[in-house]
Amino acid sequence: MDFNLTDEQRMLIDTLRTMGEREKFRDLAQQIDASAQFPYHLIPKYAGMGLLGMTLSPAYGGGGQPGINAVLAIEELAKYSPMIAAPVFESNVGPVRVIDLFGTEEQKKAIIPGVCRGELSVSVCMTEPEAGSDLTSLATHAARDGDDFILNGRKTFITGGGHASHYMVYTRFGDIKGYKGIGGLLVEKGMPGFSFGRQEDFMGLRGMPSCDLIFEDVRVPGTNLVVRPGEFVNLMSTFDIERCGNAAMCLGVASGAMEAARTYAMERHAFGRPICDFQAIQFMIVDMAMRLDAARLLVYRAASGAGQGLPSIYEASMAKCYANEMVIDVTNTAMQVFGGYGYSREFPVERMLRDGRAWCVAGGTVQMLRITLASFLFGRRFDQRKSN
Ligand SMILES: Cc1cc2nc3c(=O)[nH]c(=O)nc-3n(C[C@H](O)[C@H](O)[C@H](O)COP(=O)(O)OP(=O)(O)OC[C@H]3O[C@@H](n4cnc5c(N)ncnc54)[C@H](O)[C@@H]3O)c2cc1C
Repeated sequence: MDFNLTDEQRMLIDTLRTMGEREKFRDLAQQIDASAQFPYHLIPKYAGMGLLGMTLSPAYGGGGQPGINAVLAIEELAKYSPMIAAPVFESNVGPVRVIDLFGTEEQKKAIIPGVCRGELSVSVCMTEPEAGSDLTSLATHAARDGDDFILNGRKTFITGGGHASHYMVYTRFGDIKGYKGIGGLLVEKGMPGFSFGRQEDFMGLRGMPSCDLIFEDVRVPGTNLVVRPGEFVNLMSTFDIERCGNAAMCLGVASGAMEAARTYAMERHAFGRPICDFQAIQFMIVDMAMRLDAARLLVYRAASGAGQGLPSIYEASMAKCYANEMVIDVTNTAMQVFGGYGYSREFPVERMLRDGRAWCVAGGTVQMLRITLASFLFGRRFDQRKSN
């Protein structure tokens, strides 16, 4: 087992760190939160640096790098803010990977080069007002009409909603019940009958576009079918890549909070001494570092094991679950180290706590992840609709 980063990976991290300091990403993070404006200006810059689609197939303009490199980049940028890391997340661990892995030649040519240039982006659209964790009961419906599909339904909490050019919509095809009837259809912004609800007003991740999607008799060409009904497992296994990205966001936010708390503990004085002289403060910082390192090992294991393909469901679920809870604990502890100033918007840790709180719901709740993990540990499936 090799725990060392390659020279290329170290260089990637150094480059992003230097850029973040030079371009004052800490200040930018605060501005994004205060204004709730997404930093769109970063997209062409990231495209020029080869960060967008760095893990996608080189045949379509991608970088062909292993998934772990995207995880490292997301972590480094999320130390400032998840919104600063979001374009790297979307273009490497988002549903564009479904197209890269399972799409047709035409779909890959139409989408991947544009994603790598920062001109296109794809949102994942699973959740509905009445179907979140219970995804297989989703009601969005695609009916065949000649060569096309007619799509009806509503999606909710869709990250990138309104901003993304394309939407990978999980829908039921025909009358097939349960997961066997679910597949993935690519819907483009601007298609007649496709509209957006109002933007969400979340406690954190301020500036991240998110809204409902409304489909009213949207005519979608049959050529936009990416995952056929019955291949639902393909959609879900690709989602494990996204889980690693979600967990990388947690590593970044927690690292940012831990570094802010460590620095503050050396500068802030009480009883005539820096507060880092007090063992209570030292232990808080040590516990933060310990949990962060444990999460990092789980996330890197899941992402490295995937290479350029899919991570193990077990490893990705465990990594996401642990990292999701770790980031809440670490940002909360960081706030304590800051005392009263931690609760003030003048300092960054309350924002980090608000941003960090999202991930244990987004991308599947920690409860649902534990159900997945339990099925591995007991060697059998626990049907949530029946007593087992
Ligand atoms: C910031 C953010 C970004 C998001 N981005 C997207 C996106 O881009 N695309 C998308 O499709 N969705 C997105 N979501 C939605 C997210 O995936 C869902 O909110 C999540 O899957 C939970 O679904 P729900 O909200 O309907 O909660 P519910 O499913 O109603 O769950 C409510 C509570 O009950 C628990 N629960 C439910 N069933 C069980 C069970 N069997 N056993 C134990 N506990 C259970 C859940 O864990 C949860 O605590 C996002 C959400 C957030 C907050």
